[in-house]
Amino acid sequence: MSSNETLPSNFIRQIINNDLKQNKNNGKVATRFPPEPNGYLHIGHAKSICLNFGIAAEYQGTCNLRFDDTNPEKESVEYMEAIERDVSWLGFQWHELRHASDYFEQLYDYAVELIQKGLAYVDSSTPEQMRQNRGTLTEPGKESPDRSRSIEENLDLFTRMRAGEFADGQYVLRAKIDMASSNINMRDPVIYRIRRVHHHRTGNQWCVYPMYDYTHCISDAIEGITHSLCTLEFEDHRPLYDWVLDNITIPCHPQQIEFARLQLEYSIVSKRKLNQLVIEKHVGGWDDPRMPTLAGLRRAGVTPAAIRDFCERIGITKKDSWIEMAVLENCIREDLNENAPRAMAVLRPLKLIIDNYPDDKVEALELGNHPQKPELGTRKVEFSKVLYIEQDDFAENPPPKYKRLVEGGEVRLRGAYVIRCNRIVKDENESIIELHCSYDPDTLGKNPEGRKVKGVIHWVSERHSVPAEIRLYDRLFSQPNPDSLDNFLDALNPDSLEILTESRVESSLTDAPPESRFQFERMGYFCLDAIDSTPGKPVFNRTVTLRDTWGK
Ligand code: ATP
Ligand code: MG
Repeated sequence: MSSNETLPSNFIRQIINNDLKQNKNNGKVATRFPPEPNGYLHIGHAKSICLNFGIAAEYQGTCNLRFDDTNPEKESVEYMEAIERDVSWLGFQWHELRHASDYFEQLYDYAVELIQKGLAYVDSSTPEQMRQNRGTLTEPGKESPDRSRSIEENLDLFTRMRAGEFADGQYVLRAKIDMASSNINMRDPVIYRIRRVHHHRTGNQWCVYPMYDYTHCISDAIEGITHSLCTLEFEDHRPLYDWVLDNITIPCHPQQIEFARLQLEYSIVSKRKLNQLVIEKHVGGWDDPRMPTLAGLRRAGVTPAAIRDFCERIGITKKDSWIEMAVLENCIREDLNENAPRAMAVLRPLKLIIDNYPDDKVEALELGNHPQKPELGTRKVEFSKVLYIEQDDFAENPPPKYKRLVEGGEVRLRGAYVIRCNRIVKDENESIIELHCSYDPDTLGKNPEGRKVKGVIHWVSERHSVPAEIRLYDRLFSQPNPDSLDNFLDALNPDSLEILTESRVESSLTDAPPESRFQFERMGYFCLDAIDSTPGKPVFNRTVTLRDTWGK
């Protein structure tokens, strides 16, 4: 089959199309997404997930989720569970769930095969000696004295390494390739090391663990992967990927193809640094809405569709580049503008009393949930004598062209009446505590006679609205490239979170399920926090502002 005509082409699709023309791999396409379970997935991983699962779906192939779990010190079951949850949430279903640790026995056997062929040896060099003998970009490396060890002796030592006869670090197994290679990765890379650590899946069964480069290519081949897509930094590792597969008896040889990793401005895409933010409590956790993790984006209210759209738009290339944060934010905005129902919330309330409205009267006004989408229906919003409006929507000394409420001026309350402000009440500190207004009963759903009222502001009824906590999240970093600083923490934005505890939201939101997303009219896009909300006090996280206001 050919690539979907509606999708933009990229060099990977072109490679696959060519392979299919030549009936390579019997016309099959199999990919995998291979995270190491040493942290939560971030937006960079989303690019790789969308690519691998997307390619598989497009060519009616398969995509496995494979945990690259060869580094037990840093890995955990919590991370594996989070990764499965996040991949599913993003909208993808793996063909098979695999673990590199499923292949430990086979990996060991292939290492024995390499030793038997004279292509691997047990080395007693210390890490320091290995570093010294590795050479540089301009100088060849030096061969270890152990390089000429006999096959029999290597087999014996490797068996005993596995049996636990040696201390951690006492020996390693190295591939015997070429210490003079211009590619440092080919200078007899270590393929096994002794490490007595409990593994979250294999327990204490193993005290030797295979290295990433050796494990990855064999895992791909075992699974019958056809196209092994990885990021550009692995380009120099491809000769090793191919060397290993060319020198063991395995019927499959996947093609490694590299693409540029996502680098997102005002963000960090390194699990190690994200982990540091969590451990040092610069954020509330891996799922803090400011984190560029999938769990964080989800908690902020970003939809999987917006992330998939973002990954499609940034495309796949071979050249490293930086993506502006505004690109992601615009994908989020477009999606929520289209799909999030509208609601009214007053973030910083100011009391407003309509003196000529009957004390006990309540009108349930019917408001549309979406201005462009009548199919999203309507809801009832109660109107009564005592309301709240946004403090910002009243000005005692209005700046020029101010269109909202002023003393003696009129404004329309969204979906309700035109009101006039007659009197301001202040406390002893000269702060405004309430506004006394009158309403024009003749202006519900129609313009007043003989005068124009331009401003429209939102409101909630005091008696009917619900107290809420609103968390105004902003970018976590105030500089586009935190990684360029000596310490990326210096780029943290001190104003990335403002918590409002006096806010009020309209009553219809009390029944909203966790993670519901709304456009709070005139205030931005918000999501009902699934963790901290309580029945009496919902918590809403700001997903994104209505417009791009960063730096303005
Ligand atoms: P990190 O530095 O955050 O730990 P990693 O590459 O070590 O990233 P892995 O768990 O090994 O993390 O990554 C799983 C897959 O996701 C790999 O194929 C990797 O190439 C890909 N990936 C990781 N970061 C990015 C990124 N920023 N853009 C695109 N793909 C990425
Ligand atoms: Mg890694």
